[in-house]
Amino acid sequence: MKNNSFEEIGNLIGKAEKILLFPHVNMDGDTLGSSAALCRALRNLGKECYILIEDHIPANLAFLDRGYCTFDQNIVTKPDLSICIDCGDAGRFFKRKEKFQQSPVTICIDHHGTTELYCDYNYVDSKASATGELIFKLLKVMNLQIDREMGEAIFAAITTDTGNFQYSNTSKETHEITAALYDTGFDSNKISVELYENNRMEKILIKNRALNTLSTVCDGQGAIAYVTQEMLTETGALMEETEGVVEELRSISSVEVAAFLKEADADRVKVSMRSKKRVNVAEIAASLGGGGHERAAGFTLHCSLTEAFDMITERMTDSLGKL
Ligand code: 5GP
Ligand code: MN
Repeated sequence: MKNNSFEEIGNLIGKAEKILLFPHVNMDGDTLGSSAALCRALRNLGKECYILIEDHIPANLAFLDRGYCTFDQNIVTKPDLSICIDCGDAGRFFKRKEKFQQSPVTICIDHHGTTELYCDYNYVDSKASATGELIFKLLKVMNLQIDREMGEAIFAAITTDTGNFQYSNTSKETHEITAALYDTGFDSNKISVELYENNRMEKILIKNRALNTLSTVCDGQGAIAYVTQEMLTETGALMEETEGVVEELRSISSVEVAAFLKEADADRVKVSMRSKKRVNVAEIAASLGGGGHERAAGFTLHCSLTEAFDMITERMTDSLGKL
């Protein structure tokens, strides 16, 4: 199977009246920013459009939801179109999967290299730094005006997924698209403050606790840390507030690969992996039922935190040994 074109996808959108957008669980700036920009554009076209969610919106992303997001699966009884955004597989919106498939036509817009083309129509470009870049291009092909709010949302998508233009996925085109967003008159510093300088004290406390669990393998080339439910209770922090810890681990100069283990419950651990230059963490994640990018990927293990820790230590040692 190959990608469809933005023209084809634009035509389908043009014909539809009721459209549901599906961001992935554990929402990040890219999935929600991309969804918000598209939702606004489609509402401007007179469409009945909502972002259907199944989990909490992180506090620093709440500004992106301007009446778009809903938990109500019956808000639209018979959607004409379902579009999943930044989702590598249907497991990324598992509680909404049936609703997604209720539409006669499904579309996937994504940028993960591990994504198989699983919808009726797909646009998956692993060279795009963020799905936000793809939404920008789609809106351009559809000849839609990108206004200030869409500019803010697409900027949020791109700045968060590129580590503020720092990661290897950042390209000339990333900067060109971002530069074009300035024409909407948006205030990039205002958005950056919303996203990055808007932390609760609890976030700093949990980061501190999690970093205290740091251990290394292969002479410091691999770094592992974890967070337990108990640590969250003790600090009053939310799991989403551990976001950023895995990048902190990767920032250690000797580190090539980093893993951060989040104890979801007694037998479920969500793992985030990052690498600097050589280890393909998307491959590791895909082999364990997850996915992502070569330098940033994730998956869920159905075991205890201790078991997950041992397993990841072994996989990490193994992949570093092969370099
Ligand atoms: P994070 O570690 O920040 O949760 O995710 C890193 C990257 O991997 C993101 O692009 C995210 O979408 C992807 N990812 C994380 N967890 C999963 C998963 O369980 N399945 C898939 N397919 N991708 C994931
Ligand atoms: Mn993304």
